[in-house]
Amino acid sequence: MTSAASAIADAPARSINVQAAVDKFNALTNAHIASYLDACVHCGQCAQACHFHEVTRDPRRVPAMKLAPITKVYRRHKAPFAGLRRTLGLAPELSRKDLEEWEELIFDSCTMCGRCTVVCPMAIDIASVVALSRQAFVAAGLGPPDLLQAADNARDRGSPLGVTREVLKDRVEWLADEHETEIRLDKPKADVLLLISSIELMKYPRSVVAMAKLLNHAGVDWTLSSRGYESTNFGFLAGKPDVARTLIARITEAAEALGARTVIVPECGHAFGVLRWSGANILGRPLPYEVRHITEFLAQHKRDGRLRFKPIDTSMTYHDPCQISRRGGATADARYLLDGVASDFREMTPTGNYNWCCGGGGGVQALGRAAEVRHEVFRIKMRQVSETGAAMMVSACSNCRLTMDESKAALGWDGELESLVELLAVHLDDTASSAPRPAR
Ligand code: SF4
Ligand code: SF4
Repeated sequence: MTSAASAIADAPARSINVQAAVDKFNALTNAHIASYLDACVHCGQCAQACHFHEVTRDPRRVPAMKLAPITKVYRRHKAPFAGLRRTLGLAPELSRKDLEEWEELIFDSCTMCGRCTVVCPMAIDIASVVALSRQAFVAAGLGPPDLLQAADNARDRGSPLGVTREVLKDRVEWLADEHETEIRLDKPKADVLLLISSIELMKYPRSVVAMAKLLNHAGVDWTLSSRGYESTNFGFLAGKPDVARTLIARITEAAEALGARTVIVPECGHAFGVLRWSGANILGRPLPYEVRHITEFLAQHKRDGRLRFKPIDTSMTYHDPCQISRRGGATADARYLLDGVASDFREMTPTGNYNWCCGGGGGVQALGRAAEVRHEVFRIKMRQVSETGAAMMVSACSNCRLTMDESKAALGWDGELESLVELLAVHLDDTASSAPRPAR
């Protein structure tokens, strides 16, 4: 039994509303989701793609297994011939035992990385089914308490780590003084609203300073807003759609008040994925701004000649955050930014859209009971980096960074891990003007 499974087994008996889960599964199974459930041919190819299966070899951690609870409800209630199956006793109802057994698989064993989808011959998006399944588990009264608490903190206090407006103002003031950098907060009008993740503000504050330095140098009209600053969406990760909507509404109201045409998501993969690809659907209307990840935004300014960097000799490799590369589409931008900075750049194998996850996405980083399996997943990354021989691993996600920093400490790995924006800010070519290149 894994530590997560034993933690669940040792928990006091919980009240579980099985009917609420059945109702939620039924409500969420639209034609799009049903097509995934009908399409699985049980070939098992997804097993090799999932880091949780790779490190545990536990057959329950084959990605397709995560479809089981929703498929069971679908077969009994909504699938073709569901009535006949029920009559013949071929479609049992979802049980309390099912929910108890699958809770760990749905919450602790899926980072929603999407790697299984790229090998699936039917292109089944298991990550999106897992996200919906979490809503049904929460409706039943299940879900990891630390993840649920993070979502409630975001709703009630402004961020999962308790970064209230007052904390934001204090931290920004302190960082601006300490680093002698202008960090704009609550500028009345701005073209660009920059978000931060509370992981950055509380654990990696240099990342906030780095973004400010780069945006200032590029001549961007930007600001942070105390009306909407938190980029992470723990409502989405925790299966609480009402919280997810509140958090996106907060960002949208802040952008509208500023008249911002662009919202920049900082170094956080899931924050980008949720706002960019699901934000409008969750909010219930089109987003009145463009959503760009910081790597996309900086790459565009480098292309335009507004940012130039000095080279660094240290050999380095790049860890692709799943939601920024594979699921986000910004795979090339990080490499474009590093081109000319990393004079000795080495790709991992596999890399880019096929890279292995850090093990802490999808809210898994917030789960104390999942620490052991996260560390095992990090062994894949250690091996990958070691094969490159690179002295430094760079990434563009503070959640990946936190996951890997904790695993590094737990496993005693001495590799160097660096943030992309921090690296770029340190190697900014201050002698270059921020004026755009003349058109040729
Ligand atoms: S690879 Fe796709 S079709 Fe095959 S078992 Fe996995 S989810 Fe089902
Ligand atoms: S999305 Fe990633 S973590 Fe989830 S089942 Fe697929 S490969 Fe595993």
